[in-house]
Amino acid sequence: MSDHDWNPADEQEEFTSNLPNPGGLAGALLPVAGFGVSLRNFFRPTVTEQYPSVPANIQPRYHGRHQLNRYPDGLEKCIGCELCAWACPADAIYVEADSNTPDHQMSPGERYGRVYQINYLRCIFCGLCIEACPTRALTMTNEIELAGPTREGLIYEKKDLLAPMEPGMLAAPHPMVEGTKDTHYYKGDVLGATESQKAWVRAHRPDDETLPEHAAAGTEQA
Ligand code: SF4
Ligand code: SF4
Repeated sequence: MSDHDWNPADEQEEFTSNLPNPGGLAGALLPVAGFGVSLRNFFRPTVTEQYPSVPANIQPRYHGRHQLNRYPDGLEKCIGCELCAWACPADAIYVEADSNTPDHQMSPGERYGRVYQINYLRCIFCGLCIEACPTRALTMTNEIELAGPTREGLIYEKKDLLAPMEPGMLAAPHPMVEGTKDTHYYKGDVLGATESQKAWVRAHRPDDETLPEHAAAGTEQA
């Protein structure tokens, strides 16, 4: 047989489907079975989220905007170790650490995070950074509204990420609680700012708004 006599149809086997064929009425309806899904849902109640008119129903463990936490006396938990930045698969975190000094103690121990940035154009909210953080300085909130008109605006700085001051806290810098080491902080032994810490802040920043006398005045005005 020459090449011109070859016909591909001669070598084709008859196609046989591997799918089960129930036969009868069920077999006849198979091609339109997918419409059953549409029909079932047609009679179910409609669920429409009215966001943003109505706040979104966010679950408690939802991964939203990050937060840099503080200890109960106001010192920052971040020690500038950069483990969060190394753990991030999207290279979204930038940290620069610096040394604490007696006149500028921002966190317990030797180091603190001087520069802390998260680029929300890169972040995929996977949470690997908060798992890597050894001091629980970094956690994630339920805040989801992170849109913005500029690229620069979506790079959050440390001031944008720091947790708000709570009652009993004193803004850093100030010395650690007298007689404590960083391990006391990690173990939860520090419960709030002490009188000697307040005295230090009064001596160095008498107008500090987190001093009890100013905080009370602010509350009365409000
Ligand atoms: S949530 Fe994930 S992507 Fe976002 S900063 Fe943390 S590690 Fe990076
Ligand atoms: S947030 Fe945590 S992991 Fe990141 S630099 Fe600070 S202490 Fe280290």
